[in-house]
Amino acid sequence: MKVLVINCGSSSLKYQLIDSDVEKVLAKGLCERIGIEGSQIVYTPAGGEKEITVSPMPTHKQAIQMVLDALTNDKTGVIKSLAEVEAVGHRVVHGGEEFASSAKITDEMIAAVEKCSDLAPLHNPANLIGIRACQELMPNVPMVGVFDTAFHQTMPEKAYLYGLPYKYYEKYKVRRYGFHGTSHSYVSKRTAEFLGKNIEDMKIIVCHLGNGASVSAVMGGKSVDTSMGLTPLEGLIMGTRSGDIDPAIMEFVSKKENLTMDQMMNVLNKESGVYGLSGGLSSDFRDLEDAAAKNDPAGIRARAAFNYRVIKYIGAYAAAMNGVDAIAFTAGVGENDALVREDICASLTYLGIDFDSEANKVRGKETLISKADSKVAVVMIPTDEEMAICRETVALV
Ligand code: ADP
Repeated sequence: MKVLVINCGSSSLKYQLIDSDVEKVLAKGLCERIGIEGSQIVYTPAGGEKEITVSPMPTHKQAIQMVLDALTNDKTGVIKSLAEVEAVGHRVVHGGEEFASSAKITDEMIAAVEKCSDLAPLHNPANLIGIRACQELMPNVPMVGVFDTAFHQTMPEKAYLYGLPYKYYEKYKVRRYGFHGTSHSYVSKRTAEFLGKNIEDMKIIVCHLGNGASVSAVMGGKSVDTSMGLTPLEGLIMGTRSGDIDPAIMEFVSKKENLTMDQMMNVLNKESGVYGLSGGLSSDFRDLEDAAAKNDPAGIRARAAFNYRVIKYIGAYAAAMNGVDAIAFTAGVGENDALVREDICASLTYLGIDFDSEANKVRGKETLISKADSKVAVVMIPTDEEMAICRETVALV
């Protein structure tokens, strides 16, 4: 079955066409600056050259039309006609408590996603725009929504409740939801498969370290805790997001700097994290690495604080599960930054981890990066959210 996977943001749209029978990506790319001047589509057919076409895309519908045109193009297209697309899988950020698994897209499902938009005002409306545009252009193709939050709906109450008046949960559903669920689910499953073990018998900690970053505790294949919360702002120090802070800092700094709540939220989401800690040097770990190698204190402190937060969460989740069998690193930093993995694992010898520095010099393929007799296995598992969305879509249509 050929499945189109769509990840639609407010001004960008990532896509992949996947042949699910052989799990092969036929073409992929993205539309950028939708609704803004200078929009363009990037299209890469499997084994072919990347093409960039600058063209106005005032709406998401036009962007998706350009994706469909590229896929069916006489010269570099990978399918003859749109009829070959048998299903579309859409990433949807927030499924609230409504969705504990992926769902076929129907009018009722869309209404339920709209209800959750309150919880993700920047993301869910954009996801819905993508869904509606696809429905208009491909009215008879079955579609599925795959939620970032769904995998974490198995968390117990004690893990998802905040120490706040309970009425806020009852009235507004203020609780921990967690994100990156598609990745945590995919990577925990692959970790068990890769180690030749049954996930039902395992306690796994997944460290999804990218520009957005989160850790999850996965016990018996189910998420029992995760570091992101009501929104993706909580938990680890990220590229530009603060992660956990004393909530009183918001009042303190906003008074000193004369900032509104919106401006303060902008600081926490866009100007903090390793970017903020490095004094605005960069949110990209490659730059911080270079800076640290040159003994630049900005790079050194940002990396150290980032790693330390991950170390603390791993300890917390080993405690939450009363043990851990495997730790998996994934996403942009987790997959590419050997030094981050090594520095984090250097503080985990108390768990019985015997790290393998040689094996750790790896990129792009699933690898055991602890020694064979390490009490806890440490693995690097490249995440593949699109393939996970494709599988979910096939299962439901
Ligand atoms: P997101 O999906 O949240 O945007 P990614 O998982 O794609 O993030 O991760 C992007 C980040 O990965 C970059 O900002 C950069 O910090 C990091 N990264 C990518 N390549 C490397 C590398 N070779 N070495 C270190 N860090 C890297």
